[in-house]
Amino acid sequence: MAATGDAHLSTGDLLRSAVADGTPLGVQARKFMDAGELVPDDVVIGMIRERLEAGPSEGFLLDGFPRSVPQAEALDRLLGALDAPLNLVLVLEVGRDELLSRLLARGRDDDTPETVAKRLDVYLEQTEPLIGYYEARGLVARINGEQSVDEVFGEIEAAVQEAG
Ligand code: AMP
Repeated sequence: MAATGDAHLSTGDLLRSAVADGTPLGVQARKFMDAGELVPDDVVIGMIRERLEAGPSEGFLLDGFPRSVPQAEALDRLLGALDAPLNLVLVLEVGRDELLSRLLARGRDDDTPETVAKRLDVYLEQTEPLIGYYEARGLVARINGEQSVDEVFGEIEAAVQEAG
């Protein structure tokens, strides 16, 4: 765990806030988000780099990042430079039908049936291979995300404690 001003870093939240503020980055990102595609790697890597280099904290959770092999490689370089190794990768497993019904019930702008289907395809193509990347380092804990919120929380808490 390592240096950042913020303990929970979600690239989706950072991008949505850039879109809401109408920043140049937000304008650039929006078309990818609306289409259910990944925002270009250099954009999200730059956002994470800025936050990780911002200052000290006890530790942090990256949410929705990395989502591609180039992002994972960039994260390795960043954390190496900060001398802050990753100690756990959580994989929350939920079947496709359950995921579709949860996302469509949530009603975010990018939660239309077409965009959700595209996001799931992009996940299988570009993000799922990262599980093997981190499994090879013994960092992965798989959590059954179809249980109750309390049960999911309990399993995550246990995995975090075990990872130290
Ligand atoms: P999320 O809130 O994590 O579901 O992300 C919403 C959207 O933001 C995604 O569909 C992508 O368009 C974009 N996004 C979030 N995180 C990333 C990332 N690490 N790499 C590329 N695009 C991202």
